[in-house]
Amino acid sequence: MSDIEAIYGSMVFNDAVMKEYLPGDTYTDLAETIKEGKPLDLDLANAVAHAMKEWAIARGATHYTHWFQPLSGITSEKHDSFMEPVGDGTAITKFRGKELIQGEPDASSFPNGGLRATFEARGYTAWDPTSYAFIKDEVLCIPTAFCSYTGEALDKKTPLLRSMKALSNQANRVLEHFGEGGHRIITTVGGEQEYFLISEEDYAKRQDLMLCGRTLFGAPPCKGQELEEHYFGAIRPTVNDFMKELDDELWKLGVAAKTKHNEVAPCQHELAPVFCEANRAIDENLLTMEKMKLLASHHGLACLQNEKPFEGINGSGKHNNWSMSYGKVNLLEPGESPADNLRFLVFLTCIIAAVDDYQELLRMSVASAGNDHRLGANEAPPAIVSIFLGDELGDIVDALIDDHPYQSAAKVSMDLGVDVLPNFLVDNTDRNRTSALAFTGNKFEFRMPGSQVNLSDCNMILNTAVAHALKAFADAMEGKETDAEFEAAALAYIKKSLTDHERIIFNGNGYGDEWRREAERRGLANNRNTAEALPCFIEQKSLDLFAEFGVLDEQEVRSRYEVKLEKYTKTLNIEANVMERMVRRNYIPAINAYATKIAKGITTVREAMPAADLTYQEEQLEIILDGLKSANEAFVELKRMHAEAEAIGEDMQAEADAYAEKVVPAMEALRAQIDALEPIVDHGYWPFPTYNDILFYA
Ligand code: ADP
Ligand code: MG
Repeated sequence: MSDIEAIYGSMVFNDAVMKEYLPGDTYTDLAETIKEGKPLDLDLANAVAHAMKEWAIARGATHYTHWFQPLSGITSEKHDSFMEPVGDGTAITKFRGKELIQGEPDASSFPNGGLRATFEARGYTAWDPTSYAFIKDEVLCIPTAFCSYTGEALDKKTPLLRSMKALSNQANRVLEHFGEGGHRIITTVGGEQEYFLISEEDYAKRQDLMLCGRTLFGAPPCKGQELEEHYFGAIRPTVNDFMKELDDELWKLGVAAKTKHNEVAPCQHELAPVFCEANRAIDENLLTMEKMKLLASHHGLACLQNEKPFEGINGSGKHNNWSMSYGKVNLLEPGESPADNLRFLVFLTCIIAAVDDYQELLRMSVASAGNDHRLGANEAPPAIVSIFLGDELGDIVDALIDDHPYQSAAKVSMDLGVDVLPNFLVDNTDRNRTSALAFTGNKFEFRMPGSQVNLSDCNMILNTAVAHALKAFADAMEGKETDAEFEAAALAYIKKSLTDHERIIFNGNGYGDEWRREAERRGLANNRNTAEALPCFIEQKSLDLFAEFGVLDEQEVRSRYEVKLEKYTKTLNIEANVMERMVRRNYIPAINAYATKIAKGITTVREAMPAADLTYQEEQLEIILDGLKSANEAFVELKRMHAEAEAIGEDMQAEADAYAEKVVPAMEALRAQIDALEPIVDHGYWPFPTYNDILFYA
C-alpha cells in the first residue's frame, strides 16, 4: 500500500518545492512572472536553475531535458547531463539559467510541414513556467514550447497557450459587466484515457499490433462485449498490479490519477485524472500514456492506445472535459443568484455559437487514421458535431428562444433572466453517450478525441472559437453602462444567438442514419474521414479566426495542415504495407498449407478406401480454395490501389483522398476475405493469435 501523501508530487518542482528551495524574494519574483506570463530574466533564471539542480540531484537526477511536444503529438526529449569536467580529471555539476530558459534542438527531423523549406532547421525550446518541471527516470524534465528561430510555433503547446490567453482576455471583457473583471481566466481540462491491455506474448506475435498499434485482420471472437460483464467488473490481479504501479508512478509525478475501471470491451480500461489547467492537464495526459506503455511490460502486458485495436469491439477514446474558471469560480456552474445565472447563460450561449460556427474545425482537430474507425461506428459519437444539453437545460434554451416561461420538470415555474436557474442541473443531466459535446452539469465533455490524440489541438480550437464568440458578445455590449441596460441587451443577444445556432443542439440519439439525415437537413457538416475533415483547417474563415487572436498565422496553419495530411497518408501506407506483407508471407502460405493437407488427406483416404465418401473433405477443400482465390484477388487489388495512391506524389490532399477513397476500401475487402477463412482453417495452421486467443484469458 502506498503512502499517497508522502509520494504525491515528490518528483515535481512544484509551488511548495519552489517556496522551500528558493530565497524568499526569488520565489516572489518567480511567482509573479508565472502569474503574469512574463519572460524570465536571466538573474532570476540562474537562481531558479540552481535550486532546481540541487533539488533534482538530491532525488537522483543526473540529466536534464527540455521536454516538448513536436507536431507528431508525442513528447520529445534529449538528455544532457549536469556534469561539467573541470580540467583536472574531476567534474562538477552545473545547470545555468540560460539552459533552463532555452534549449536548441535540431528541428530538421521533426515534422514541420511547409516550415521546413522556408526556415533553417534549428529551433529553440523555451520553458513554460506555468507547467512544473519534474523528474522522470533520473532526468529533470523541463516542459517547454518549441519554436523556429523566426518565432513560428513548431509544437502543440505554443498555440494552446496562445489560445488560453485569447480566451482569458475575452472572458475578462465579458466578466467586467458582472463586476468580476481583472482575473486570469483559466481553461480547465480533465482527459479520461481509455486503453487496452493484452498479453505481451500475443502482442509480440502480431506484426500488425507491433507495427500499426491495431489488428489489421481478425474474425470476430465467439463472444464479444454483448454480455456487458467487463464494464466496471472486478479488475483481474495482473491488471490490478499494473494499475497500482501506474498510480504510484503518476502520483510521484504529481499527476492526479483518480479513477480506474474496466471499460465496456474485454481487456479495455480507463483512467481519469482530476482536472487542472489545460496545458498541465495535457502534459499529464502525455506522461500518463508514456507510463502506461512502459509499465505494462513490467507485468507481461502490452498497452494498446490506438483508437481501434480490434474491429467489432469498442474502440478507445479520450473524453475531453472542459470548462473555464478563475479562483474557485467555475464559469459553467449555474449559480444560485439571478446575476450568476445570466452569466452562465452568456457563457453557455457563446459556447453554443462557437461550436456551431467552428464545428468543422473541431471535427478536424480530432481527425486521424485511427479515429476514422471510431467516429460514427455506433460506439463513439458520429463524425457530426452537435451539442447535448439534456432535457432540463434544453427546455431552458427552448424557453429563451420562444420567449415562453420555463417550467421545470419539478414543475417550478420561473421567469428567466430575473429568476433563478434550477441548481439541480448538475444531478439532472442524463448520460447521452452518443453526442459529440455534452453538457455534464458544470462542464462540457467533448467525446470525439481518440485515445491516441494529443488534446492540445481540440482545446486550442475550442478556446479560440469560444474567445471569438465572447468577443462578439463583449463588442455588442460596449457602451451598455447601467445594469438594466446591460441585462436587457444581454438577454436579447442570448435569444438571438441561440435562435441562430439552435441547429447545433441535439438531445436525441446520435447513432444511426436518422440523425445523419436530420443533421444534413440542418446543414451540419459530416466529414466522414480524415481526408474530408482536414481541408477546413486552411479555409479563409479558419485563417481569419486564428489570425484574429494571434493563435496561428497562415504559415503555421498551413504547416500543421500538411503535417496532419502527411501523418494520415503515412499511417495508411504503413498499414497497407503490413497487410500486404502479412497476406503474402503468412496468411496465404498458411491457408495453402492447410488446403494441401486436406488434399493429401483426400488422396490418402481414397487410396486406402476407394469407395469412401469424401464429400465433406472435398467441400472443405473447395471452400478454402475459393477463399484463397478471392483473397488473392483482393490482395492484387489492394496492391494496385496502393500503388496508385503512392504515385500521386506532390498533391498531398489528392494523395490523402486516394487513400481514403480507394486504399481503405481495398484494405477492408482484403481483410474480409482473410477473416472469412479464419474460422474454417485449422487453428494450428493459423499464423497469428486470434481475437479469441487475445481478448480472453484463463
Ligand atoms: P464521469 O464523466 O465519468 O461522470 P466526472 O464527471 O466526475 O466523471 O469527471 C470526468 C472528468 O471530468 C474528470 O477527469 C474530472 O476531473 C473532470 N472535470 C470535472 N470538473 C471539471 C471542470 N470544471 N473542468 C474540466 N474538467 C472537469
Ligand atoms: Mg466522462
